[in-house]
Amino acid sequence: MDIYVNRVLNMKHIKAIGFDMDHTLVRYHSDKFEELTFYQSIKKLIKDKGYPAEIENFKFDFLKTIRGLVVDKNNGNILKVSLYNKIKTATHGTKELSYKEQIALYAGQNVDLSDPQFMSIDTNFSMAHTHLFSLLVDLKDSKPDLDLPPYVEMADDVTYAVDICHRDGTLKDIVVKNLDKYIILDPKAVEALERLRKYNKRLWIITNSDYKYTRALLDYTINPYLKDHKHWTELFEVTITLAFKPKFFTDKKIFLKVDPETGLMENFDAPIETGIFQGGYATKLQQDMKLAENEILYLGDHIYGDVMKLKKTCGWRTALVIEELDKEVQAFKSTKDISIEIDHLMDEKVAIEKKIDDLYAKEYEFGQDVDKQEVFAQFDKVEKLDKKIGTLIKTYEGHFNPFWGEVMRAGVEPSLLASQVERYACIYMTSVADLANYSPRTYFRPKKRKMAHEK
Ligand code: IMP
Ligand code: MG
Repeated sequence: MDIYVNRVLNMKHIKAIGFDMDHTLVRYHSDKFEELTFYQSIKKLIKDKGYPAEIENFKFDFLKTIRGLVVDKNNGNILKVSLYNKIKTATHGTKELSYKEQIALYAGQNVDLSDPQFMSIDTNFSMAHTHLFSLLVDLKDSKPDLDLPPYVEMADDVTYAVDICHRDGTLKDIVVKNLDKYIILDPKAVEALERLRKYNKRLWIITNSDYKYTRALLDYTINPYLKDHKHWTELFEVTITLAFKPKFFTDKKIFLKVDPETGLMENFDAPIETGIFQGGYATKLQQDMKLAENEILYLGDHIYGDVMKLKKTCGWRTALVIEELDKEVQAFKSTKDISIEIDHLMDEKVAIEKKIDDLYAKEYEFGQDVDKQEVFAQFDKVEKLDKKIGTLIKTYEGHFNPFWGEVMRAGVEPSLLASQVERYACIYMTSVADLANYSPRTYFRPKKRKMAHEK
């Protein structure tokens, strides 16, 4: 797959490349992992928060959600939002809101992500969250006698349950025992890493996972495919675990040195050198490695935790891995004919609308009677075209997610997620393996962007 460019990035100037681990260096079978998160979170809700046992009957469906959606916690709604923060599609629980219902509730309101009412689904680790919340909303609406908490409280309870599952070992213990089920093996990603080393790029890992989990995943995904090295630790100059991103990029925390054999830790005040660490912060790492901020590229999957914060505070160059991109690009190609047909029908519609305007011009500008029969006939044509266009749009979107459509688009505009990608990621790609298709000396240049008047 290709690498896509938002801003000029000359790889010859990049001396160190930092990698996030989960969903970047290590890819997950997301459908399986989120299914696990979904059912384990349900258990936590019942045990820790007193939810009724019947929520165990919820069925997981990975297709019910996509990345980049926004949860309206107060109203129990899930929103797809455009780059202008306008709501394009909305559900209440799992049920689609009609355009009229949407307008009645939000009346042109902009979705302000700094408002605690809203929560954006930034990572593939949050898919189970949205799905579980929407099923709880359905249940609360259909069975008021269950006396479930208000929507906002349910949203926070789901956040709690998912968070605990990630932190208390519930998920990680199961993943480590069933690596083949949850983790994707990708020899080409390892090839890309070894190629970068041949060009003397210094490689780092900066992950929020703990050392034990990091080791288990990297032993499994990297070691078997190494050709010029024996162990993943030889590839990476530093590995920073439990980095606590995005705070790693903004706050100053102490570094601990980790013993790779035992996993035991000790305080570390000296300049950072090669090895495995826990915690710490970006500016010390950069200073001790004697690098300028624009000589470091950081690659992650989390638009907020890995990219947005870093871009605002550190000045490192950024790359984003978006695992949905591959399918999105394929679907985009296979729907070309449909898009052309939609454009043709839209042209027809615009021509008819112009005809209607001309008919009315007679009344407004020349005081003549409008031929009502003719006007109705034209409106009839517009209605028929709208139906055809509507059906085609549904078919088009069905090639992407059957309900939510494209991840990177909301209607005709880029989605909120796409706008964040454009703004904060210098380059973006489907997976680390895509780096193998490019020389580590590549000069990435963006294509000229067309403005409305240039198209
Ligand atoms: P990274 O992507 O390599 O930085 O690692 C992400 C880490 O964050 C993984 O260990 C995940 O299990 C963990 N994680 C993801 N979502 C949550 C959450 O909601 N609460 C706590 N940890 C999380
Ligand atoms: Mg990650």
